[in-house]
Amino acid sequence: MIKEINFGNINIGENKPPVTIAEAAVEHLGSVKVAMRMAETAKEIGADMIKYQMHLPDEEMIPDVIKFWGGSLDEILENYNLSIDDHKLLIDYCREIGIQYLCTPFCPEAVDVLNDLGVDAFKTGSGELTNLPMMERIAGTGKPVIASTGMCTLDEIEETVQFLNDKDATFMIMGTICTRGCAFCNVATGRPDTLDVFEPARVANAVKKMGLRHVVVTSVDRDDLKDGGAEHFARTLRSIRQKSPDTTIEVLTPDFRLSGPSALQTVMSAAPDVFNHNIETVPRLYPKVRPGARYFHSLWLLKRAKEIAPTVATKSGLMVGLGEEFEEVLQVLDDLRAADVDFVTIGQYLQPTPQHHPVARYVHPGEFKKLERAALGKGFLMVSATPLTRSSYHAEEDFRLFSSARSLKLANSNNNNICHSKSEKERRNEK
Ligand code: SF4
Repeated sequence: MIKEINFGNINIGENKPPVTIAEAAVEHLGSVKVAMRMAETAKEIGADMIKYQMHLPDEEMIPDVIKFWGGSLDEILENYNLSIDDHKLLIDYCREIGIQYLCTPFCPEAVDVLNDLGVDAFKTGSGELTNLPMMERIAGTGKPVIASTGMCTLDEIEETVQFLNDKDATFMIMGTICTRGCAFCNVATGRPDTLDVFEPARVANAVKKMGLRHVVVTSVDRDDLKDGGAEHFARTLRSIRQKSPDTTIEVLTPDFRLSGPSALQTVMSAAPDVFNHNIETVPRLYPKVRPGARYFHSLWLLKRAKEIAPTVATKSGLMVGLGEEFEEVLQVLDDLRAADVDFVTIGQYLQPTPQHHPVARYVHPGEFKKLERAALGKGFLMVSATPLTRSSYHAEEDFRLFSSARSLKLANSNNNNICHSKSEKERRNEK
């Protein structure tokens, strides 16, 4: 019973290539055979590592686990976690099929056990990073440590980046509760917290302290605020600029649909380097997938952002595998180009929990290639279309690549030449 598998790219250091990690929620798998199949799948779609969690159910969580999964306590305990023998089996199997095995230890003692079993690397989140005895043991193994710098809280980012010396990070501002409930998104829906007026300064301090070269600032949807949180975005951007003038900033904003056109103006007045708003899916699926949003409003937002600030790069992303047709995706690409969007990302939709929109199909890597070619042909300056593509992965590197693509285009148009757009992969290979 496969319950969850997530994929993500993580930059592990300034001069090292990002690794692609498949995260398997083994606590819900119920069988080591399924875990093996997940390792095969991860390998097939190009992941470098697969991560299995090694932890025991929290006693307090057991009633919820029983309620959710059903079954008796004994069954739950039996199936909830991989045994040490299971881990050994999986490590050997991963080695056999050529994928690295990554594991988060649940206590300092588990570090030694995992090390003896032969894990290739340790994964740490803020919980582990603040656990000094755990970190000392991990450091003692001499194995690579991979920490998550994806979307997480400010404190988590600070702690994580200190260990990794990464140079970009994503900050989610204005809380973790969203006023919308998109069918693909795992963010909680409800009444958000009141705005923290000190947040812009705290984000700016964190960016400076970490010496970040590029940041992505994003947020939940805040339909409860008159301006949708636009001024909070702008204040955050201005604070970052003031403290770290050399840091480039990408905003990944909500659609400000209920806030009027001035909200976008407010964000753009703070001069982001990249304006990103995800179109997410094809218009036919909006009522089911993105019920609070309107396709043509999102297009308008992107177009208007470019009109307000023609030199700012615009970016958008969509998921495939939600039930759309190939032709419909092509139409979205046309619409995005008509809105003057420079950079598009296309990735495979993965269902975060059984309560979310089902995956209609897994799109073949060959189809992603076709979409990439089509998008380049339509004139996007940058295209990232792979099963693992997500909107803010490689944000810093993408921004640099985009800047050189744009310079090339300008040079070519000055020379009356044709600019040959390139895929993200071609550009990375050239570097
Ligand atoms: S608006 Fe954004 S954060 Fe809110 S549910 Fe939709 S995708 Fe998630």
